[in-house]
Amino acid sequence: MALKQLASDLHMLPGLVNVYILETAEGLVVLDTGFPGRASKILDAVGSLGKTPADVKHIVLTHCHPDHIGSAAALKRETRATVWAHPLDAPMMEAGTTMRDGMCPSPGLRNRILAKLLAGKVATVEPVQVDRLVEDGDRPDFAPGMTAIHIPGHCNGQLAFHWDRHGGVLFPADAFANRRGLKLPVATEDPQLALASIAKLGKFDFDKICVMHGSPVMQGGAELLRQTVFDTFKKKG
Ligand SMILES: [Zn+2]
Ligand SMILES: [Zn+2]
Repeated sequence: MALKQLASDLHMLPGLVNVYILETAEGLVVLDTGFPGRASKILDAVGSLGKTPADVKHIVLTHCHPDHIGSAAALKRETRATVWAHPLDAPMMEAGTTMRDGMCPSPGLRNRILAKLLAGKVATVEPVQVDRLVEDGDRPDFAPGMTAIHIPGHCNGQLAFHWDRHGGVLFPADAFANRRGLKLPVATEDPQLALASIAKLGKFDFDKICVMHGSPVMQGGAELLRQTVFDTFKKKG
């Protein structure tokens, strides 16, 4: 699918996992990389912006799952970009292991079926060297106005990002997806911690939510998340 422009300097490559491309004065930032085999698609998207692989300066990985880091090594090879991740997931990325044992399906039949289907499917990917570590509250300099938020639960080293542009943009990683409404991810390492992390995201102000799975929310994001946290996640998941 073709690259979609969400704001002047924010683009989304839609897919099973969305990949976001940010334009900064320094160059391009790629947020997550999709499953293995997606690097050429991402570079095509970069080309459609009139840029070259060398313009990609940063690759930011939200967590170690295979649908997010699968093409990171290939993309790093082509671009020589700096790779960013949380210290709890970086060792797994560097070993090419993608899942911790004991993932717990979220409530509902769909999640139970999908969790079973996906379990162990892509247990390893090409290892990728992480260059810069990002922790909770950091203001990483890959893009001005970005704040890192550590949101364990779905994955222990998972990072969300809040960007203070365009009325606020939240990149929630896999804290939740947008499938006709905000929904829990298929599975989590720790369901209680996952809910606490979602509540933590609800304290930020943002207009847009750039989910990794499903369609982005283009306005009223914080309000929608707060409403969902209280109405849905806590009751039925
Ligand atoms: Zn995930
Ligand atoms: Zn995912």
